[in-house]
Amino acid sequence: MGIFKDGWDAFVTPVREFNDGDQSCEAELQATNNATGHTITYYGSTQNLHGHAEIDALYQFLKSIGWNVANFNGYTLTIHCTAKPCCKYCASVMGNLGIFATGGTFKSTKSMGISYALPYEVRNFLRNILVVTNETILSELSQ
Ligand SMILES: [Zn+2]
Repeated sequence: MGIFKDGWDAFVTPVREFNDGDQSCEAELQATNNATGHTITYYGSTQNLHGHAEIDALYQFLKSIGWNVANFNGYTLTIHCTAKPCCKYCASVMGNLGIFATGGTFKSTKSMGISYALPYEVRNFLRNILVVTNETILSELSQ
């Protein structure tokens, strides 16, 4: 029950608890256009102040498609994040959006510190695609 658990379960990758101790992290999101087969890679970083690296990469991709749900459905997405596991919130967001994990990308049951945040635009997109309220997203996918 709930979008957190649905997303967590849908993000199929092993649970691995490790942390290199560094706050910063980088992630790559590969977006393949299903019609053309063309892939673009978005490089996410905690430096860009959109929260965790996975969320930053997602932010960049969603911005590129105009935050549009119909456009979104024309892509297959894969996240590559090997420096540290995806925190429980990022893992759930990835799962909720049907994003696949590459080998070497793991998920963690932990929240991974205070730098996690869901930018307003990402929250709004989740609300539209999952057809849930903003309150649900705030209560389930934010710390
Ligand atoms: Zn995270």
